[in-house]
Amino acid sequence: MKIACIGRNYADHATELGNAVPTEPLFFFKPESAILHKDHPFAIPEWTEDCHFEVELVVRMDRAAKWISADHAGRCYTTVGLGIDFTARDVQSMLKAAGKPWEKAKAFDGSAVVSREFVPLDDLGGNIQDLRFSLLRNGEEVQSGHTADMLFPVDALIAHVSRYSTWKTGDLLFTGTPAGVGPAQSGDRLEGRLEGRSMFEVEVL
Ligand code: ZN
Repeated sequence: MKIACIGRNYADHATELGNAVPTEPLFFFKPESAILHKDHPFAIPEWTEDCHFEVELVVRMDRAAKWISADHAGRCYTTVGLGIDFTARDVQSMLKAAGKPWEKAKAFDGSAVVSREFVPLDDLGGNIQDLRFSLLRNGEEVQSGHTADMLFPVDALIAHVSRYSTWKTGDLLFTGTPAGVGPAQSGDRLEGRLEGRSMFEVEVL
């Protein structure tokens, strides 16, 4: 399986990093080995001094899809989860400045936190563009997002990626992060919530 991740899908986050708002979805991949094992702590890699959390709505593909239109993309999923796209921001900034790919900063082991459960969308009201989610750091809210604020809606993201890379059953889509990203610190406890449900808790080492 693969993980496709979207960059700069919320205007407030794009501008907090000094990036222009994109005119088409920006995506990159994390390998399966990036998934943090269930209930394991997250160890900040020793080669970064600035490892940021990014909470994101995660969609799991229930079927394969290639060149699917946005109108039909809603057939590809029935459940949603929540995750963290851990990002070595200092390394990413160096790579970006040099015009190089981001993998070292984004695709490392443990960099993809995925919630224990995926919740049927129907149990959350049925509209994927009307979901609220948040990240709490040591009990204090640091990020909150509303999927209505996405620059590109989920179905457009699925359609766009499918033009370049075939979706397979079980693939995950990280849909981008809202503003409020910041450095994870050793000792932090990060909790993700989706529509009031606790979806994951991660201890940072
Ligand atoms: Zn992200």
